[in-house]
Amino acid sequence: MNLKEIGEFGLINKLSDGCLVRKDHVIKAIGDDAAVFIQPVDEVVLVTTDMMVERVHFFRNATSGFNIGYKALAVNLSDIAAMGASAREAFVSIAIPEDCSIEFIEDIYKGMKQLAARFQVNLLGGDTTGSQKDLVINVVVVGSAPKEEVLYRCGAKKGDMIFCTGYLGDSRAGCHLIVKVIADDAEAFKALKNAHLIPRPYLKEGKFLARCGGVHAAIDISDGLGSDLGHILEQSRVGAVIYAEKIPVSENLKKFCRLFHFDPVQYAVAGGEDYVLLFTAAPDQSNKIVEKYRKTFNTPLFEIGEITDSTQLEIEFPGGKKEQTTPTGWNHFKK
Ligand code: ADP
Ligand code: MG
Repeated sequence: MNLKEIGEFGLINKLSDGCLVRKDHVIKAIGDDAAVFIQPVDEVVLVTTDMMVERVHFFRNATSGFNIGYKALAVNLSDIAAMGASAREAFVSIAIPEDCSIEFIEDIYKGMKQLAARFQVNLLGGDTTGSQKDLVINVVVVGSAPKEEVLYRCGAKKGDMIFCTGYLGDSRAGCHLIVKVIADDAEAFKALKNAHLIPRPYLKEGKFLARCGGVHAAIDISDGLGSDLGHILEQSRVGAVIYAEKIPVSENLKKFCRLFHFDPVQYAVAGGEDYVLLFTAAPDQSNKIVEKYRKTFNTPLFEIGEITDSTQLEIEFPGGKKEQTTPTGWNHFKK
């Protein structure tokens, strides 16, 4: 059966199975003109949205529906994570070209539902339309948090230590392997591709950072360390120094860079879509945060630099050489 035969409503019916994973607070899920749900009392509401467009963000023939759906939701959950909040409800609008099969759309929803179930996020609605050529998916996520626990980009202070929650640059390397169709199936390359295709949102970690006290500013790395730290610096009116040798680079990325003659530090600084959290914390609270984080998640935080009172972003290399960098990374209208 194809999309023409089952039609818009047949498709929505098929997709709505398994969308409601947490029934409490939900009065109306998919099926009416609008969803109805109750927000936790005493918490503020956070709303974020991110769109994925075929040939801009993904190539339909280079990945599975599952991965596309998973990532479309993951990047939104990552934004909620960066604010230190809990993700609760999601809405999915999709524009479907004629040559896209029902199975492919179902696979997209499989990816979204798997990730949504893991974080107890309901898919409460959306919109479905046709498209001339490209597949477009827009996701909205609604989250909540106690008002005083929300983390913003604007709170960094001179002397703060800068941390990130995971390796940088893997996603960009994975993207390179996919776009250049490098079909080497080595474990290292599979891991890099997966870092790009199915990034993990740091929701629990974001919530932890918001609650533990001493965290001043946070962002998720979607455009690249240089670019996203740049946002914190600009909004907080401070500068920063990053220590090149402290930037966490995975063994997989080192192997990739050796093979293709790239510089891992440059790759990590400019590479986007890692979706790890980047945050700044008061120096006198940092040890406590690092210790508690390790105990809670059994993984380390990576301290990569310090906030300064300049307005520059500097990278310091072993031996003391400093390089001033203009924030680079992905910017849709500047290439
Ligand atoms: P209306 O025409 O009143 O806007 P729709 O027919 O577009 O309603 O949608 C019917 C129901 O299906 C609504 O609850 C809507 O949120 C949901 N829905 C539509 N498209 C999607 C989708 N792609 N994913 C999830 N829910 C959807
Ligand atoms: Mg509609």
